[in-house]
Amino acid sequence: MSTAAPAPATHAAVSRSASGRIFNFSAGPGCLPDDVLSQVQQDVFNIAGSGIGILEHSHRGKVFDRVLAEAQQSFRAISNLPENYHVLFMTGGASSQNFLVPANLKPQDQPADYITTGYWAEKSLEHARPYGALHEAASSKDKNHSYIPADDQIRYSPSPAYVHFCSNNTIYGTQWHRINDAGACTWLQRDPVAPAGVPLVCDMSSDIFSRPVDFTRYGLVYAGAQKNLGAAGTTVVVVRDDLATRKVRELPWLLRYETFAKDESRPNTPPVFAIHICGLVFKWILSHAQPGRHCLEVIHEINVRKAGHVYAAIDSSGGFYRGHAHANARSLMNLTFKCPTPDLDDAFCAQAAAQGLDGMKGHRSTGGMRASMYNAMPEDGCKTLAQFMKDFAARNG
Ligand code: PMP
Repeated sequence: MSTAAPAPATHAAVSRSASGRIFNFSAGPGCLPDDVLSQVQQDVFNIAGSGIGILEHSHRGKVFDRVLAEAQQSFRAISNLPENYHVLFMTGGASSQNFLVPANLKPQDQPADYITTGYWAEKSLEHARPYGALHEAASSKDKNHSYIPADDQIRYSPSPAYVHFCSNNTIYGTQWHRINDAGACTWLQRDPVAPAGVPLVCDMSSDIFSRPVDFTRYGLVYAGAQKNLGAAGTTVVVVRDDLATRKVRELPWLLRYETFAKDESRPNTPPVFAIHICGLVFKWILSHAQPGRHCLEVIHEINVRKAGHVYAAIDSSGGFYRGHAHANARSLMNLTFKCPTPDLDDAFCAQAAAQGLDGMKGHRSTGGMRASMYNAMPEDGCKTLAQFMKDFAARNG
């Protein structure tokens, strides 16, 4: 088959959410909740009745004091974070953590272990190289990062400074999950079993707060804000106190976690706007709580349902769509799949975009499509996409 069937005129209407915006499946920056965006519009002009917008307030003034304190408190409320953990709002993207983590935590001669399950996890290892010995404890590269290694496939070095992994592989569409006794995926938090006493470090950029998470299992977690937390410009770091204050080498003041922990994330002018947006997103997350149910339980249930619509469209397509990830490693956030030919992939993306399903082109290392369905993607968007997939397969299969 060389050319794709055109979309029939009856399908030409653009799909829109209740607010009139189209559905944005981009991998990041990703979609944000409509309520947050409306509030931000107002706050840019005049925040909290102060007569001054959020972009214009002093980062040491009372209005920003409150923005920062509320963002901190909301993060802690979502994550039930104990006192011995700091929440830092840093800059430089998740990528800067690739060197800040080893710079702060790893003595030059002591190895750190890396589990490389995708593009970003490989970057984390690569960018730690200036800080000395490293060990690749496991990799999924042999199968183009389509799976997550089992515990017995991971070989730790004798005494690593930490074990680094990435909980959700944005590009390949795989995620660490707990598998139940029947061998089925629960979609719940699973971590590598690091050697006793060795801190786990997790890049949670693309799935933080998508499901219940116990942060006390980690020494340090980082996440660029532009997917599930807010806007590009800040990276949230959750770090245990003994690691925040660990001293393994001389470092400039602004590269130390301790500086940010002591100065409430504002040793210099912080990304005030990005922090404010995070604070609003955290409140939106908290608003999902129901009597007797934690907000992340509710969000997780919605995310499982959302991904379920699209995975069902893949699995019921009679082989027209092929998913990249192994069934037990499928991501709830980034769903990767292909049509039978690259031409059909292109037609899929073009026709989907014309109907208001935007940002679906897969990364160059996987090809095909990637539907990113972060917390703020409405379930309606996922249902609309699943229906589009069925119609497209029927026209072209
Ligand atoms: N880690 C993961 C899992 C990511 O998805 C990304 C960005 N897509 C990064 C790291 C890099 O983030 P940044 O662009 O904020 O440096």
